[in-house]
Amino acid sequence: MFEYAPAPESRSVVDLKPSYGLFIDGAFVDPTDGDSFKSINPASEEVLAEIAEAGAPDVERAVRAARKAYDKVWGPMPGRDRAKYLYRIARLIQERSRELAVLESLDNGKPIKESRDVDLPLVAAHFFYYAGWADKLEHAGFGSNPRSIGVAAQVIPWNFPLLMLAWKIAPALAAGNTVVLKPAETTSLTALLFAEICQQADLPPGVVNIVTGAGDTGRALVEHPGVDKVAFTGSTDVGRAIARSVAGTRKKLTLELGGKAANIVFDDAPIDQAVEGIVNGIFFNQGHVCCAGSRLLVQENVADRVLESLKRRMAQLRVGDPLDKNTDVGAINSAAQLERIRELSDAGTAEGAERWSPPCELPERGFWFAPTIFTGVTQAHRIAREEIFGPVLSVLTFRTPAEAVEKANNTPYGLSAGIWTDKGSRILWMADRLRAGVVWANTFNKFDPTSPFGGYKESGYGREGGRHGLEAYLNV
Ligand code: NAP
Ligand code: MG
Repeated sequence: MFEYAPAPESRSVVDLKPSYGLFIDGAFVDPTDGDSFKSINPASEEVLAEIAEAGAPDVERAVRAARKAYDKVWGPMPGRDRAKYLYRIARLIQERSRELAVLESLDNGKPIKESRDVDLPLVAAHFFYYAGWADKLEHAGFGSNPRSIGVAAQVIPWNFPLLMLAWKIAPALAAGNTVVLKPAETTSLTALLFAEICQQADLPPGVVNIVTGAGDTGRALVEHPGVDKVAFTGSTDVGRAIARSVAGTRKKLTLELGGKAANIVFDDAPIDQAVEGIVNGIFFNQGHVCCAGSRLLVQENVADRVLESLKRRMAQLRVGDPLDKNTDVGAINSAAQLERIRELSDAGTAEGAERWSPPCELPERGFWFAPTIFTGVTQAHRIAREEIFGPVLSVLTFRTPAEAVEKANNTPYGLSAGIWTDKGSRILWMADRLRAGVVWANTFNKFDPTSPFGGYKESGYGREGGRHGLEAYLNV
């Protein structure tokens, strides 16, 4: 195998400020009590910037600004005019996509290849797609006169910072709502750059507000009585706490939570393609993917062949500098997440599964975890039941399609699943029986703004994307 020369993307395109304020009512402002926290580059542990931490009075200011903008400007504005702003934002995202992609990789640790070729094109596509709906809401299938809800509180995780922002903000604004969004503590920087893009687009003040901070800021936001709608993406535990706090209020709620997806490979599948799909399913974005194919279910009679190819393929994954254009697997997003991945992987070994990683040199500074697979995993093992949210694959086997369905559904989650087989009839038979919001056939991790995404069971409720994604932001 040949070696690749370093091919680092330049970070000079990013103009990092030493500190960032909160984005409220169209302007960057200081937090009331002056608190702040640092955002670091997880690949080097370098401090990137100091970020304001919003307290309850700041959340109050943001919700008030969003309410005023809703009542006076955005709510009454004709859909075709809202669309113009959304198209403008979409085009600015495209124009500044290199800057956004580099900043995303710096702050999150994901490979530039992914932020540049997956995240950013999808972010722009979401704004374009929902811009198209803004003046056609009465044709969306929710009655002749669907109405916006009001002020939306939106809380998002760190794994796809800008993409999760787009999934939340684009449909909300298209439907005529205003928003207050809280990004994740470790990945706020692209949300703040997005705030600059809102200014550049002349978006009326207060339509989009960004309050940075940690869990307490998120809680203050979702519990604020002035909010009409709560949209949350994150862990099932926090989702449960939010559901409890919203219960009994008039707030509408959508939850996009965790997953433990089965990626099911039958003996008639094209093995090389399936192996690419397995790799993409669990090592894309370091496995920090809610719909990751983290449980490989492989038919017993081809298990050895599949595992052999998989190991050969994994030995070729390049782990390292996220800004290098050849990197396949970047840094783990935080020390805390690395600790969780280690803890669960150690539990895998302790419970008797067999662990394997290709030889790979990890950088000394920063947070890293080698791509890992576990074989000899049983349904009872923690690594088969709990979401690891890292580059760790649990491999189980099955003999019959019915057993594959049984094992795939044997989880509290139900976000996604993958099926690899040559037979169309089997794909349909399986898809009918899998309790998962998205079922991919002979592919994995494919996203499109026109396609609804969301969970069954403890993976949450409500859908994002497509026509369905509008429903969460309309009184229908
Ligand atoms: P998390 O701990 O639940 O955090 C998600 C967001 O909620 C963060 O912004 C977090 O703030 C904030 N938060 C924490 N406690 C809160 C509270 N009590 N009230 C309100 N907000 C609160 O999840 P995570 O570890 O960041 O993200 C990983 C999880 O997200 C995984 O389970 C993954 O499956 C899920 N996910 C789901 C989807 C989907 O579409 N279904 C997509 C992506 C990720 P801080 O981070 O700043 O503390
Ligand atoms: Mg960071």
